[in-house]
Amino acid sequence: MVEGSNSQGRDGTGGAHPPIILGIDTSCDDTGVGIARGEEVLANVVVPQTALHDRFGGVMPELASREHLEVIDEALESALRAAGLELSDVDAVAATHGPGLVGALLVGLSYGKSLAWGLGVPFLPVHHLQGHLAAATGVKPPFLALIASGGHTALFAVRSWSSVEELGRSRDDAAGEAFDKVARLLGLPYPGGPALSKLAEEGDDHGVKLPWPMAGSKGLEFSFSGLKTAVALLLERQPDVDRADVAATFERIVVGSLMEVTRRALEATGLRRLVIAGGVAANRRLRQEVAALGAELGVATTFPSPALATDNGAMIALAGRLALRGAANAASDDGAEPSEGHDQTAALATDASPYLPLA
Ligand code: ADP
Ligand code: MG
Repeated sequence: MVEGSNSQGRDGTGGAHPPIILGIDTSCDDTGVGIARGEEVLANVVVPQTALHDRFGGVMPELASREHLEVIDEALESALRAAGLELSDVDAVAATHGPGLVGALLVGLSYGKSLAWGLGVPFLPVHHLQGHLAAATGVKPPFLALIASGGHTALFAVRSWSSVEELGRSRDDAAGEAFDKVARLLGLPYPGGPALSKLAEEGDDHGVKLPWPMAGSKGLEFSFSGLKTAVALLLERQPDVDRADVAATFERIVVGSLMEVTRRALEATGLRRLVIAGGVAANRRLRQEVAALGAELGVATTFPSPALATDNGAMIALAGRLALRGAANAASDDGAEPSEGHDQTAALATDASPYLPLA
């Protein structure tokens, strides 16, 4: 269990303070429970399931759901302890309602709704990717966000917190998924990203011939499954090929493709700030190329801390805060006009009853 906290302990909760929001994410293979007070993260507990799924080389959905159920109580207790708070201090509960593995999502969502219902506080359903965007604390819109994880690869124009436009996504595998699958083909342990990246350091990044994804495209979509298939065929036809060369060439192409499309999106939107989130943001080559691209285009680049950039509950609490605060308040700090559908009333109107049918 990873515990994080920068709590100064319990404050005078009788006085006015930014709302204390509990955030839950069980969208995939990590049980995340975090607590935020305003933009301040008080606790960020993540119980990873890596060991559980290791031997399958990928996430087993049913095992993931059962494990979430097994550890969620303890994760909540750890988060409260780390924040120096009690359950009764919580002003609202936020939980990921999607996208993700249905069974896994259901655990955190039902848990969060029941908690909110029991405490008599608002329940805030959060889109998982809104959570990743909200993890960029300290960054004010407008910005371009690249989310590259095991489950998602997508670009968003975040013009204000109430105006988020998806510009493009992967047509097939996510970047992290491609890392994991190719790592498996190379006989590396799960999760494959870090292991493949380490092997790549010893290889020649032009050592083998692999296809460039979406070659010739001028759009803002990604695709990684053709590249993955090309690696599988290469290994089948040339079993003695240097694996480090395969890893290095694969990594160069995935990162290069991510950067190529991101560059197009920056040029098309004119946005001057870039935020990179998701597990793949830990990749060394990606970080170097993002820095180079930012310097070349005069675009400021931000990587949320790894603890906030991979799946976690604190980012869901932070996104819940934005929903609770509402577009009217958001207008005062990001220049946005209030818009319909994202306002405080809409967020508060969500019924926390455990009998509420899942939208
Ligand atoms: P998800 O929960 O959707 O799988 P996470 O944000 O938890 O996504 O990130 C996990 C993904 O990030 C995995 O696919 C993993 O292989 C990838 N990853 C982690 N570190 C690296 C790295 N150094 N290079 C490339 N990919 C990485
Ligand atoms: Mg994960």
